Amino acid sequence: MENISGRIRKLSDSQTMAMNQKSKDLQSQGVDIINLSVGEPDFHTPPHVKEAAKRAIDDNVSFYSPVGGFPQLKNAISKKFLHENELEYPPENIIVSNGAKHSIANAIMVLVDDGDEVIVPAPYWVSYVELVKLAGGTNIIIESDVRTDFKITPAQLEEAITPKTKVLLLCSPNNPTGTVYTKEELQEIVMILMRYPGVFIISDEIYEHINFIGKHESIASFGEIKERVVVVNGVSKAYAMTGWRVGYLAAPGWIVKACSKLQGQFTSGASSISQMAALAALGGDNTYTDKMREAFLRRRDLVLERAASIDGFVMSRPGGAFYIFPDISAFCGKKFDGNVIKDDNDFCLFLLEHAHVAAVPGEAFGAPDHIRISYAASDSILNEAFDRIEKALERLV
Ligand code: PMP
Ligand code: GLU
Repeated sequence: MENISGRIRKLSDSQTMAMNQKSKDLQSQGVDIINLSVGEPDFHTPPHVKEAAKRAIDDNVSFYSPVGGFPQLKNAISKKFLHENELEYPPENIIVSNGAKHSIANAIMVLVDDGDEVIVPAPYWVSYVELVKLAGGTNIIIESDVRTDFKITPAQLEEAITPKTKVLLLCSPNNPTGTVYTKEELQEIVMILMRYPGVFIISDEIYEHINFIGKHESIASFGEIKERVVVVNGVSKAYAMTGWRVGYLAAPGWIVKACSKLQGQFTSGASSISQMAALAALGGDNTYTDKMREAFLRRRDLVLERAASIDGFVMSRPGGAFYIFPDISAFCGKKFDGNVIKDDNDFCLFLLEHAHVAAVPGEAFGAPDHIRISYAASDSILNEAFDRIEKALERLV
């Protein structure tokens, strides 16, 4: 008899992962699906990183690593923070985990107690709210929409803060909107946070290198609040290494120690081979990353142009990441073969079935009536996807 814990029963499936799997299942049945659902670079891991991993296997780097990661990798991450972000995080303030998702999970588990409130600006990345639920916390959602470029205002933040607020979750460049906060906008948020010394900030900066508007700005660079910031990053997006599973966080020592305690019981250190690969990625230059960013920028412009020519798609101009997030409410209420498209879920299902294009419903990101389209695919695939979308939408009445 099935008897799952209440903790897991109240957890939802990851919609990004679910849509990706659905597309792959259909593809394996021979259906020609263009999968623009999951967010991962379509590029291969750089050759020097692959070589480092092969060397690590031959050199028998096959034993458990320290729970928090190999010292040489933590050193490289510390250097990365100094050189790329002008942030001082010595190795003891860093912990390596099994992907940035794991780093976020660690940080939430370590900071959030039963009944604590976590402020999550919407649209948000799918896993945040589920991890907060798992930790026993309450999600306090701040809404934003295309009119403010999906940015929250300082006034909205202040309104959301209560004596129970423990954490603010920030993500810039953002998944799913691609929104990038400027230094001035972060400064305004910091001004509010300075009045509430009990609020911690988990800053998800995994898309740092996929930023089209200039230098990456980290909220940890505001010295006034740095002692309350957890910076999360990893190698998945910057070095096309999603499957290698290496992420990290930098934070005050007591937070890192607590994450290490949790990780030591839950998973131990990340894969030893992958850590060696991550070391090579961080130790190399960023030529490969720069090339990927150039490609993403070109594709952003391509998909924006194609999407703008579809009557009914309303969207922002993303400053980073590799997603567009159109409002599709103009299509809700329309019919196909007598079936009404009620919402973004129906819309995505329609696209999957009739255009053979997979996207993710906005509801998964706390923004119903939107869909997320990943443009981490080649120009020709993106053009083909939009040809199909256009053709399918013409059939709606
Ligand atoms: N944060 C955001 C906003 C993401 O889009 C992703 C992508 N999966 C992650 C964290 C997790 O990345 P990782 O592959 O390193 O777990
Ligand atoms: N970050 C990617 C996405 O949002 C990967 C999926 C996931 O980790 O949930 O699609």
